[in-house]
Amino acid sequence: MNSVPNLVGKSAEELRAFVEGMGEPGYRAAQIYHAIYAERRFDFSAMTSLPAALRERLAREATIALPRILRRHHSSDGTVRYVLALDEGKPANLETVFMPEENRQTICISTQAGCAVDCRFCLTATLGLIRNLSAAEIVGQVLVALENNREALKPQTNIVLMGQGEPLLNYDAVMAALRILLDQKAVGIAPRHAALSTSGIIPGIERLAHEKVRPNLAISLNASSSEQRDQVMPINRKYPLKKLLEACRKYPLKPREWLLFEYVLLAGFNDSIDDARRVVQLLANLRAKVNLIPWNPGDLPHKRPDRNHVEEFQRVLLEKGVPCFIRDSRGQDVMAACGQLALSEAAASSAVHASS
Ligand code: SAH
Ligand code: SF4
Repeated sequence: MNSVPNLVGKSAEELRAFVEGMGEPGYRAAQIYHAIYAERRFDFSAMTSLPAALRERLAREATIALPRILRRHHSSDGTVRYVLALDEGKPANLETVFMPEENRQTICISTQAGCAVDCRFCLTATLGLIRNLSAAEIVGQVLVALENNREALKPQTNIVLMGQGEPLLNYDAVMAALRILLDQKAVGIAPRHAALSTSGIIPGIERLAHEKVRPNLAISLNASSSEQRDQVMPINRKYPLKKLLEACRKYPLKPREWLLFEYVLLAGFNDSIDDARRVVQLLANLRAKVNLIPWNPGDLPHKRPDRNHVEEFQRVLLEKGVPCFIRDSRGQDVMAACGQLALSEAAASSAVHASS
């Protein structure tokens, strides 16, 4: 096992302390910070802004360790689902999804291996919580996905914390990673191009409200009443809908910021016109947008509503002035869509085994 420190996941201040501990001037830390995160130089020998002697010393006394690509599953729509191996701490595999679009790419990252929240419609829940990811592993997913698509990158990168795990139950590592991802001197993703989705962990929402730099907040609503939510999201018993919406009302939105509410449509359960009307009432007095996500199939007892029905639901919200979008998840053929991340190899027929 490698006992030298991994520099991935370290903040500018942590790098400075490390470099000073080596007896080197502190400004070298800013050069290393930029080289790893902004230039994606993962080999000290490629950090040409540093003197040769320091590069050699760093190669002996530190490492740049990223999650390893175990498999890549390519969807017919261009989406790539990565299965990554983590060697730090307790071994775990995890998933990251890369979605190319015309002028940008969106990277969906995981914040935990598995998830303890146990939503009834989500395949990740069937894994249980394997472990929290470190800041290095969260940042590492973005670096690996960008680097693996280096030739095809578009100018804009969006990140969504919507992969495996509940981000607000791994708060410190998630925020440490976000500070690096959203720092214009580091990975450089614009905060408005980042979104964190939560099942509704109220203390986490309250903490996030006080962060200077933070992503957009998305809340998984998924039901039109507290009783209904209890049935599919057991977390609702701990953090009930009424209190959750109160926390949302208190959340200090910036001038052009909106809250996003995700609503997974489960046919015959939460997708009636009455449900849509109740959602409108729940979101009254909130600067909120709604994303409707027709349920993505997995080995669970739910049904996906048909398209007409989804559009009818959407119409009710739009008529009442609630901005509402239908999100057809990408990468369904390779189990890369929302709620399908459970390390499935069922769709592996189109898998390309990574050479590294
Ligand atoms: N744990 C966080 C983020 C990951 S899940 C959360 O729950 O918010 C990202 C989104 O996918 C959530 O809104 C969740 O409700 C939704 N989702 C889960 N399973 C799904 C499925 N099978 N089909 C469609 N969306 C699903
Ligand atoms: Fe966890 Fe989110 Fe899946 Fe719920 S929907 S089990 S919180 S990953």
